Amino acid sequence: GYLKDRLSKTRAKINSSLSSIIVLGRKIDDELIEELEETLISDDIGVETTDKIIDDLRIAYKKKEIQKTDDIIPFLKNRMKDYWPERDRQLNTAESGPTVILVAGVNGSGKTTSIAKLAFNLSSAGNNVIVAACDTFRAAAVDQLSIWSERIGVQIIKHKQGSDPAAVAFDACEAALARNADFLIVDTAGRLHTQQHLMKELEKIKSIIAKKIPGSPHEVILVVDGTTGQNAIAQAVNFTKSINVTGIFLAKLDGTARGGIVLAIKDQLDIPVKFVGLGEKPEDIAEFEPGEFVEALFG
Ligand code: GDP
Repeated sequence: GYLKDRLSKTRAKINSSLSSIIVLGRKIDDELIEELEETLISDDIGVETTDKIIDDLRIAYKKKEIQKTDDIIPFLKNRMKDYWPERDRQLNTAESGPTVILVAGVNGSGKTTSIAKLAFNLSSAGNNVIVAACDTFRAAAVDQLSIWSERIGVQIIKHKQGSDPAAVAFDACEAALARNADFLIVDTAGRLHTQQHLMKELEKIKSIIAKKIPGSPHEVILVVDGTTGQNAIAQAVNFTKSINVTGIFLAKLDGTARGGIVLAIKDQLDIPVKFVGLGEKPEDIAEFEPGEFVEALFG
């Protein structure tokens, strides 16, 4: 299917490394388990995640739940699928009135494209969606979001480049309330003069939104570039120091063999991946569904 196709680079990498270890008729022993451990780490699954899985594998082997190499991949798949609780997958929404989604992420992560995908996904499902162009710092960010909003047919609230992002957020909230929007998606700056300045601005936008629409933002989504492996995690850690991130949009998974990072994110950040980006078009978005994902990675 689509997911398998888009994750084919990661799947090819994982399969080729596993197939050299999991050879038919080979005995399961410490050496094999160690090779497996190294492989999973090199597949970006992360040290902590790998340790847990390998520990469980050793126990399962001792209990004779696993007896032959053929049992290993099904075991890994089941173990990985168990990682994500159900609650992780849903978007937090408002009980009534507009649901506000604040979107953050460094420049180049895929933030603008991911906002367009999210807006397209929600409006295609019949929702009234407004996007707010609060990334007023970067030249062309407002223009880029305008082009996307026109292309996918959603409303946009914008001021000119360089204007006060808090004022844009204020207007966007008024518009969302007046026009009975179901979703307001707020773009924010990916970079300012300093990191501290950036975090302050995010806080300011957040507090204005919260004042205008009590209980919001309902989600703070961080867009991270899936092609950067462990760097993506370091970036996310940096954001979570100053803003309460409620979900990750893992972008560009189609262009990378490092899709295993989704497991590392779970363990190292404990922030749910809610969406994945699988291409450059607005429809190239998937809600993160662990079962399907693991099947696509180890299929
Ligand atoms: P921003 O600077 O963070 O707003 O990033 P953009 O949204 O402008 O995206 C940067 C580049 O990454 C663009 O060329 C996008 O087309 C590309 N891009 C974004 N998301 C994806 C994705 O999921 N898959 C692929 N292949 N490319 C993507």
